[in-house]
Formats: sequence, C-alpha cells, structure tokens
Amino acid sequence: MKELKPSSHGQPPPQVSLRSVDTEGLRAGPRNSSAGPAHAADSTETWEAPEGSWASSAANRRSMRGNRSRDTKPELALRRLVHAQGLRYRVAAKPLPKMRRTADLLFRPAKVAVFVDGCFWHGCPEHFVPPKTNPGYWEQKIGGNMQRDHDTDARLAGEGWLVLRFWAHQDPEECAKTVVQTVSARRKL
Ligand SMILES: [Zn+2]
Repeated sequence: MKELKPSSHGQPPPQVSLRSVDTEGLRAGPRNSSAGPAHAADSTETWEAPEGSWASSAANRRSMRGNRSRDTKPELALRRLVHAQGLRYRVAAKPLPKMRRTADLLFRPAKVAVFVDGCFWHGCPEHFVPPKTNPGYWEQKIGGNMQRDHDTDARLAGEGWLVLRFWAHQDPEECAKTVVQTVSARRKL
C-alpha cells in the first residue's frame, strides 16, 4: 500500500506532532542531543513519488504550496490536450459570480465546468490515505472538501451547468476526450 507521506513543502500534512517528537525523544535518548532529532532528515526531505506512480504529484504537491488547486501537472496536461483540439476556455474562473468556487477549465457559452481534483485534497477513494499524524484532523478536513465539492456540483447543476469532475490520477487523454465530446455536444444544443 502506498501512503501519502507528509511533505515539508507547502501545505500540511504537518511534519511532526509534538506528541511524536516527545515519544521519539524519549526513545532515542540523549544520542539525539548532539545529532539533532533523528526524524528531522526524513521529515524535511521533499517527498518524491516513484516514476510513473499515480502520485507523480510530488510536483503537484509542491505547486499546491502557492495555490493548491491551480496549475497542477494533470490539469496542465488536460488543458494542453483540450487546447490542441481547438477548444478555448477560461482557467480558474468562477462559473457563478456569487459562488466563490472556481473551475479549472470553464466553457462559459457551453456552460461546462471542469474540475481536476487532487487525490489527496479531494479524497480519492483509491489514493487518499490520512497522514499518520493527526489522522482525525485530516479525515475531517478532506471530508469537508468533499462536501464542498458536492455542494458546488449541486449549485452549478441548479443553474444549468454541466460539471465534469476528474481525478488527478486519471489519464489526461481520456479526460480530454470526454471534455471535447461534452463541450461539442452542448454547443450543438
Ligand atoms: Zn486517485
């Protein structure tokens, strides 16, 4: 089983809880006082996913530091493919002015909103694993995000929008195909 390891870069997961520092300190004894905390090296390393892994999102996670929902690698790949098909769209735009949520790709005339959801932040059933540190906090946090996603979908549907939601782990080619087909079909209506 793969596990999302906390990364010191960007957003939480937090590296080490006070509790685990204490425990480790006790276990490791005075040896640590000269060498520094034994866990420091691990927890401050940038996390790198194995090549080809679903979580080639070490890069995503890094970019999430500044803006966790924008310009991730899967999203860029999707944008590039859709653009190559001749479709034009807004990036990170609000479908509804009164709703603060932004779609990753927005086709306003066709009223299609596309979201590329990160496997960690949006609770992918295949890949979300709560960090070992404060798992309860993270389950609640991610659960809140998922609820917000559902709410977003419902509100957009209520206003006549069609929502396409993809996981970051999905094949960008497949996603692009769906986007192009959906937008083209909506344009003909
Ligand atoms: Zn996933």
